[in-house]
Amino acid sequence: SSMQQSLYQSGVKLKEAYRRIEELAELDELTGTSNRRSIMRTLEEEIARCARNGSSCAVALIDLDHFKRINDVYGHPIGDEALRTFAIGMFANLRSIDRFGRYGGEEFAVVLPNTALRQALTVADHIRRAVMAKELKKKSTGEILGRVTISVGVSMLKPNDDTDSLIERADACLYAAKRAGRNRVICEADPEYSSETQTRVA
Ligand code: GH3
Ligand code: MG
Ligand code: MG
Repeated sequence: SSMQQSLYQSGVKLKEAYRRIEELAELDELTGTSNRRSIMRTLEEEIARCARNGSSCAVALIDLDHFKRINDVYGHPIGDEALRTFAIGMFANLRSIDRFGRYGGEEFAVVLPNTALRQALTVADHIRRAVMAKELKKKSTGEILGRVTISVGVSMLKPNDDTDSLIERADACLYAAKRAGRNRVICEADPEYSSETQTRVA
């Protein structure tokens, strides 16, 4: 009957609405990337997977350099625009297996599954260069405002790590990258790694 038909249709619509709500609960409003909760869950799942099959995993924490200046000089809306531009650029520069999300205000996290240290550094430095190369433009006028740079801390999953311990070590490396002058990638010590780029070993 048409009554049944209409009940069925509202059921379908309701299901779609629920799915959309669940989707939105995973997304950061400003950038449309995974939010903190979502990227942390991804990391947790990845850690569990590595514990089962022994694969390697890296985490990169990214913080935009001197971001307060961008807000101070151009205003908060331009700061927001810069965050969106950065996030879009990330999708263009990450591998399909990588997972990216907004960790906090102008801090982002990348989960790099099946990735050894050197490869993680290569990916992180590729991102750093791509960000540095991109001009920050005012959307409405196209006026070139400048560039943003990022500092990156990379940590590698170790046995008995949980999300907190893994992130904590990445954060310590990020802090070291800031102290060392910003616009660079720092990872946990790897005596074999050396690079002519700005990448340095902590
Ligand atoms: P550093 O190189 O040491 O990271 O310097 P910084 O200025 O980036 O660091 P700080 O943590 O002092 O400032 C972060 C700034 O990021 C302050 C805050 O206003 C800005 N910020 C955080 N979230 C947002 C946001 O959603 N939109 C905008 N426009 N700015 C934000
Ligand atoms: Mg910052
Ligand atoms: Mg910060």
